[in-house]
Amino acid sequence: MAEVLVYVDHVDGAVRKPTLELLTLARRIGEPVAVHLGAGADTAVATLAEHGAVKVLAADAPEFAEYLVAPKVDALQAAYEAVSPVAVLLPSSAEGKEIGARLAVRIGSGIITDAVDLEAGDEGPVATQSVFAASFTTKSRVTTGTPVITVKPNSAAPEAAPAAGQVEQLAVTVADSSKGTKIVSRTPRESTGRPELTEAAIVVSGGRGVNGAENFPVIEALADSLGAAVGASRAAVDAGWYPHTNQVGQTGKSVSPQLYIAAGISGAIQHRAGMQTSKTIVAINKDAEAPIFDLVDYGVVGDLFNVVPALTEEVKTR
Ligand code: FAD
Repeated sequence: MAEVLVYVDHVDGAVRKPTLELLTLARRIGEPVAVHLGAGADTAVATLAEHGAVKVLAADAPEFAEYLVAPKVDALQAAYEAVSPVAVLLPSSAEGKEIGARLAVRIGSGIITDAVDLEAGDEGPVATQSVFAASFTTKSRVTTGTPVITVKPNSAAPEAAPAAGQVEQLAVTVADSSKGTKIVSRTPRESTGRPELTEAAIVVSGGRGVNGAENFPVIEALADSLGAAVGASRAAVDAGWYPHTNQVGQTGKSVSPQLYIAAGISGAIQHRAGMQTSKTIVAINKDAEAPIFDLVDYGVVGDLFNVVPALTEEVKTR
């Protein structure tokens, strides 16, 4: 059966959920072969095998941690040459997109980024994308070379499908030309204990209606009761009420959770661009004419300072 390379996103061998989603989607096209770069392959293998990886190609080199993505592109290219896959899948993270794009250039292929679904086609995998600020859904396929496709987190529910997951060491030579950009320091972000915004199953976002940084704990309390990530509109971010890293939208992050709750957000097209592919959308807004109500599954017309705390209390009783 045809093999599909899946780039593993992990932290020291703890495999992140988007990779499990990729393995699930990869099985629609062929047999997933996971590529694990960096430390922790021995830890990762059980999870990867449980989700369908027939093989895990593992490589570790100090250059992966010392330089920006180019050494990892060398390694992924080595995996590509070893396997001759029918497709290469990566998560649609900043790193995944950069590695994917560089690999596509090197192997003379086309790339599709930010796919939200993937299916097998007679002439190669077909990717679904949400484009033009989520106004259209398109289906496309790469017509040149081996398709390289990055997939947005939460595009599929990870499904277990136990496979062999045999680990093979991948021989990697990092080219001198890949040592151009050295990482000089790393400052880990202070953990909020909440899930990463782009990967969260539930996102609760606040907008201008929150009316001040001092009121964002109202949004955070609902998020915490649901185990959700916190998002914000650009208006809230520009006002300095919430960090830019939490901005959802065209110039912020693109999220696709199972549930998106927008409180005090009008639903401008640039905000919609970052959340319209959410599976269920709920809005709380005191203006019944707010455009956000055009796209919601459930809408509450009301003051968020009444509705959100009541919702939080209700969730806590469950
Ligand atoms: P508003 O549009 O002011 O809406 C606030 C809403 O809160 C209103 O609907 C109001 O009825 C409601 N409200 C007020 N008080 C309450 C209350 N007590 N209870 C309930 N509801 C209440 N925006 C983004 O979000 N993300 C982006 O990435 C982004 N990128 C952009 C890029 C460009 C190039 C441009 C030009 C704009 C971009 N914007 C982006 C800005 C976007 O156009 C809107 O200005 C922004 O989304 C508005 O944010 P908002 O909905 O929070 O504020």
